[in-house]
Amino acid sequence: MSGGPRRLIVYCGDYKCAHSEVIDADRWGDDVRLSDLERKFTCQLCGHRGTDVRPLFEQARIGTGGR
Ligand SMILES: [Zn+2]
Repeated sequence: MSGGPRRLIVYCGDYKCAHSEVIDADRWGDDVRLSDLERKFTCQLCGHRGTDVRPLFEQARIGTGGR
């Protein structure tokens, strides 16, 4: 369970919609590329085909984390 992001954020490809959605990445294996998912998703809100998928890193890991 180390390495890749556990969650992804999917943005609608239509800038007028700009809908975003957080999805769980656990259901996909390590060999699934983000570019594959971008083609796979359709916006839930406007039905636009084509999305922008980015890894969503846990916010707790951001910061100093030095203690
Ligand atoms: Zn949309």
